[in-house]
Amino acid sequence: MKQAMFYENLDDGVVHCHLCPHECVLPAEGTGVCRARKNTGGELYSLNYARVASISLDPIEKKPLYHFHPGKKILSAGTFGCNFKCGYCQNWTIAHKDARTMLLEPAELADVAVDYVKDGNIGVAYTYNEPSIWYEFVLDTAILVKEKKLANVLVTNGFICREPLGKLLPYIDAMNIDVKAFTDEFYKKYCKGSLEAVQKTVEIAAASCHVEITTLVIPGLNDTPEEIGKLARWLSSISPEIVLHLSRFFPNYQMKDIPPTPVATLDAARISASSCLKYVYLGNI
Ligand code: SF4
Repeated sequence: MKQAMFYENLDDGVVHCHLCPHECVLPAEGTGVCRARKNTGGELYSLNYARVASISLDPIEKKPLYHFHPGKKILSAGTFGCNFKCGYCQNWTIAHKDARTMLLEPAELADVAVDYVKDGNIGVAYTYNEPSIWYEFVLDTAILVKEKKLANVLVTNGFICREPLGKLLPYIDAMNIDVKAFTDEFYKKYCKGSLEAVQKTVEIAAASCHVEITTLVIPGLNDTPEEIGKLARWLSSISPEIVLHLSRFFPNYQMKDIPPTPVATLDAARISASSCLKYVYLGNI
């Protein structure tokens, strides 16, 4: 366990975590919504520091990032836990269950990244589960990766408070941020998050590094051309060059009763988004 950053001590051994907008208040021995931070003895600790559940050398397009070192690979690593509760989670075995992990310290992960440069690796992607709740490990590793002149990539839901985001961004070269829908109702009902917090992250990140956006288009929940059009207009107000990936839904985890997204729905979404964004791609089809 590693002592956490961004928390304050309250009375009676209670701690208040300020890493993400959940702003969990944890009683003695309490664990946060993310399952990754715990109050032990009146101090907050990261439970997943240096605990790696998944690691692989992936094509950069798989993140997905299409306009950042295309054709290259990136060493991709993830741990356990998530601060969202999406019923359709594609990585639920590590996000919401107790995954087996191996110990890999920041310096070791950075060294592995260097070893793979000969195979086309450009750096480290923090992905598979939500990297913002792996914060201390990601920050420590990202600093070392930058020292080795390699790139850092976050694949994230964007649900992080401004102060920790600001401290991490100088080390981050690219992000793929999920914008899961363009209504706060969806975020509240299906993710236990908020759209506004994610929008703020996109705006801040886009001013600091390369940003691409992914939206999983789910039949009946977030798939109307009108909603996709609103999302695209907001993104184009940040930059019409922002890349939008519209990804096809397949039944998974707790949402096995919804059918795969019809290709015609994805085509209509792409046409709607393309009216104001230069780069709109369909994925998972
Ligand atoms: S990072 Fe975890 S413990 Fe901290 S506020 Fe978010 S969900 Fe709660």
